[in-house]
Amino acid sequence: MITLFRTEIGWYAGVLLAGLLIGLAVGAPLLVALLFSSAYGLWLLVRMANIVTWLESGAASSKAPPTAGMMNQVVGLIHREKAYSRKQKNRYRVTLARFNSLAAELPDATVVFDGQRIIQWSNTAARSLLNIHEERDQGQRIDNLLRAPEMLQFLAHAEQGVEVELASPDTPDKTLSLIKVKAGKGMTVLIARDITQRVKVREMRKAFVADVSHELRTPLTVIRGYLEMILEESGISSKTRNALSNVQTQSDRMHHIVEHLLELSKLEGNPLGELEGEPIMVAGALGSIVENLRKTIGVNHLFALDVNDDLVLLGSEGEIYSACSNLVSNAVKYTEPGSTISISWHLNNDSQPTLIVSDNGPGIESQHLHRLSERFYRVDKGRSRETGGTGLGLAIVKHVANRHGGQLLIDSTPGAGSSFSIEFPASRVTKMARVSNL
Ligand code: ADP
Repeated sequence: MITLFRTEIGWYAGVLLAGLLIGLAVGAPLLVALLFSSAYGLWLLVRMANIVTWLESGAASSKAPPTAGMMNQVVGLIHREKAYSRKQKNRYRVTLARFNSLAAELPDATVVFDGQRIIQWSNTAARSLLNIHEERDQGQRIDNLLRAPEMLQFLAHAEQGVEVELASPDTPDKTLSLIKVKAGKGMTVLIARDITQRVKVREMRKAFVADVSHELRTPLTVIRGYLEMILEESGISSKTRNALSNVQTQSDRMHHIVEHLLELSKLEGNPLGELEGEPIMVAGALGSIVENLRKTIGVNHLFALDVNDDLVLLGSEGEIYSACSNLVSNAVKYTEPGSTISISWHLNNDSQPTLIVSDNGPGIESQHLHRLSERFYRVDKGRSRETGGTGLGLAIVKHVANRHGGQLLIDSTPGAGSSFSIEFPASRVTKMARVSNL
């Protein structure tokens, strides 16, 4: 580069010197030198203009204008860049073709649409699952093709990356799992998967658990009845009484598990309508739960209730009572006597009715928190059994919260205590129906 620059300066100096010499010969050295210098500058400009015109025309490298010196170097570099970008383009073209043929054969239906919901691309599976044909429907609005109200709702409002289950638009006995993902430059990718089989297995499992629980209920009631009767007899030895008491404890546990399983199978995957339910005085329910606990098991805990009596929730009374009672009794079960249990029922900062049950008990290690609401998940199996736990309480609370459009949140610090909250949607706040005196 430096050498080329020196050569270029050398040429210029040569032209200038020639001008001076000729100028001296004709008696006007400066004027002729200036003329030569300008001519040299003009020649450079013309060469530059030729290069720019060649670049602008997008013509092939072979059509490059003749150049010399530094300009030649510039043209050389441009040739190199052009060759490189041609190679890159070919590479991209091959990769894109490979990607397109792979994506076209993906088992999941994939549709890419822009900010105006215009379909830009779709694969083969989109034909059978969504009835969107890659050639026929490219350029159409996706919401003109998927017109079922739930689909329109999904396209307009579903959260990015959150899986939604819907019936297939053309074959309602098929269930699809749909997911929307942002793909840059205002594009959205819609992925649909056929989960009919998965849903069937889930339904079968639910029906099986519900049937078995139901079938166990009657014989268990009979066993518990006879046990109670026998234990009321005075003529049995203390050894037999002890053995029978143990049997009674275990059959009571089984009874609780069966009842919890039946409760869960009623709650699962069955959300309440937005305006479905009855007005529930949650504050009153919490008061009676605490009272009952005190009466039935003589709880030796301190309860700090901070509740808004006027905050009425629209929902299923039995379910809300069950969720509150599970949270409060857990706080009692998993803390030492004398611990403080705080119960709060208020609107949170987002005006959502929120129930918080917190304790200053042993707390829970963070690795367990996300699994606590799974069926039969216990941190300490021994403690749960000792206290008559079924391992289903928090699963019930989570399903009750979800059925009401809310969510269960768990926060805990080992050694400091735990806090379980249910946040309901603001739309569930309602007024108590007034009893007319007329
Ligand atoms: P269980 O019938 O065993 O109480 P849950 O589903 O209600 O089942 O609770 C699951 C597990 O979560 C419990 O076994 C216990 O280990 C833990 N847990 C629940 N509540 C608390 C709490 N307030 N403090 C500490 N651990 C708790």
